[in-house]
Amino acid sequence: MIKNSLPKKIEVLIVGAGPAGSTLAYELARLGIEVLLLDKANFPRGKTCAGGINVRTLRFLPFDLGPVVERVITGISFTRNLEKHFLRRYHEPLLVTVRREVLDNFLAQKAIQMGACFADGTQFFSLSQEGVNVQVETSAGACCAQFVIGADGAQSIVAMNLELMTATPYMLAIHSEVPTSLFPWVEPDLIHIDWGSLKRSYAYLFPKKDFFAMGAGGFKIPPPQIKNYQRAFGYTKWQKEETPPFSAAGFLLPLRQKRSLIHQGRCLLLGDAAGLIDPFNGAGIHYAIRGAQLAAPLLAEAVKERRDSLQSCQEAINRNLMPEIECSRLLREIFNLCPSFFHRKFATSDRWWVAMAKIMRGEKTFVDIKNKLGPLGSLLLRMAR
Ligand SMILES: Cc1cc2nc3c(=O)[nH]c(=O)nc-3n(C[C@H](O)[C@H](O)[C@H](O)COP(=O)(O)OP(=O)(O)OC[C@H]3O[C@@H](n4cnc5c(N)ncnc54)[C@H](O)[C@@H]3O)c2cc1C
Repeated sequence: MIKNSLPKKIEVLIVGAGPAGSTLAYELARLGIEVLLLDKANFPRGKTCAGGINVRTLRFLPFDLGPVVERVITGISFTRNLEKHFLRRYHEPLLVTVRREVLDNFLAQKAIQMGACFADGTQFFSLSQEGVNVQVETSAGACCAQFVIGADGAQSIVAMNLELMTATPYMLAIHSEVPTSLFPWVEPDLIHIDWGSLKRSYAYLFPKKDFFAMGAGGFKIPPPQIKNYQRAFGYTKWQKEETPPFSAAGFLLPLRQKRSLIHQGRCLLLGDAAGLIDPFNGAGIHYAIRGAQLAAPLLAEAVKERRDSLQSCQEAINRNLMPEIECSRLLREIFNLCPSFFHRKFATSDRWWVAMAKIMRGEKTFVDIKNKLGPLGSLLLRMAR
């Protein structure tokens, strides 16, 4: 990792070494592009996250995540309104859980091994696009890049500099790390989901080796409501103490809408910075990785052909990722019309449960489900956009 001085000139500079930034750095280095990845934090660094990664996402990775997996999940225990419990198991893994400090460090190391330069502990301050270059100011000095990628997360300073992603709606998430001793009976291969209690919200309990990730997320929900919901979800699980023996913190997750602009000249946003997050459940690791994988070959082409725009990257994301994100938003709205119906269906219909399992495993998509609705699905989708 580079300390103290940055190269004066680089082909691609990436701000933020989360899954989006490190995946892009890995892919660009593999394509022979000079890439500088910088992050304000010293690695390994913590990142608040439930750390659930679907099998669908694992299938897109060019390497095995085995060394960083905490738990392999093969079933989901559901409640609605914190009651009406049922349990569904699948004969194959649905997702894995990871600790983000371990996963993100692993991905950054993969990028370094592929040939990317990584400057951690280096904060991005500002950029200006001048002629054929982008001038970047950081805490370790200035650097001149042909292209700059903002993969700096939900509160992206790059997006702010570019005046992109203004007026973006947010999902609110409340998250805690809970000692395993509080839920000694929880099985390590199950996650717990409560849904249908608050509109467009759900609560989760994800097992790791040494603790549980417990939280709640919701769209258009006032913060006190989601906070109380997360507490109530916890109480139903341990029912012991008045004051929870752990703290909770809140986070905002931007949701890209109306295919808003995520590029400007020689700059592009990826991952949370671009609002590429599943509107149903707030998961973004899949879209962070996929967005980077889609953008990499186009960016490499732009470097080699000395282009001055990254519009092709935005188009690839619009074409390949947005239909899925928009269908997820549509299904969230349909689910919210009658959560009790959907809860009952997933409890009683093997067909519905298998469809959900296949989506998590990448063997089916939300778009397939929308297509089953025929012209009505397309009409609803247009309205949901
Ligand atoms: C409570 C909660 C639970 C979640 N659970 C899940 C889950 O189970 N599964 C899932 O798929 N998604 C989950 N998510 C979403 C997931 O965390 C994000 O979608 C994912 O981290 C996005 O990756 P990214 O690379 O875009 O950004 P990030 O992972 O946020 O990485 C951004 C990086 O940019 C760096 N940075 C920021 N500003 C600067 C700067 N000025 N200069 C230099 N570096 C900078 C940061 O230090 C950070 O390392 C959850 C989110 C929250 C809040």
